[in-house]
Amino acid sequence: MSLFGEKCARCGHRRREVSDDAPNCAACQEEIRVKLQAANEALRNCPIDGSRMTKEVAHVIVIDRCPTCHGVWLDSGELDKIKDEVAAKTITAMLPTAPFAAG
Ligand SMILES: [Zn+2]
Ligand SMILES: [Zn+2]
Repeated sequence: MSLFGEKCARCGHRRREVSDDAPNCAACQEEIRVKLQAANEALRNCPIDGSRMTKEVAHVIVIDRCPTCHGVWLDSGELDKIKDEVAAKTITAMLPTAPFAAG
């Protein structure tokens, strides 16, 4: 193991802590984990037209998308993940960027 080679093999970002032999940063590992999970999930049929839906990874969630009607199916918990993410971004956006004027 090289002292200077501790970069993520996927995105090239330098990793801060090297806890194991994983060649990727935490963000990439999470993304890879989600993609593996997607690959292992059973394909579903669209509840509207019965077409076989395809798996897509959107950020950190796996969605099923119908190629016929372009409907999207979310697993339980995935909508909450999106909500959490949006809420976090909204809160960040609402934080004042300029200092308050005093009196
Ligand atoms: Zn990475
Ligand atoms: Zn459909």
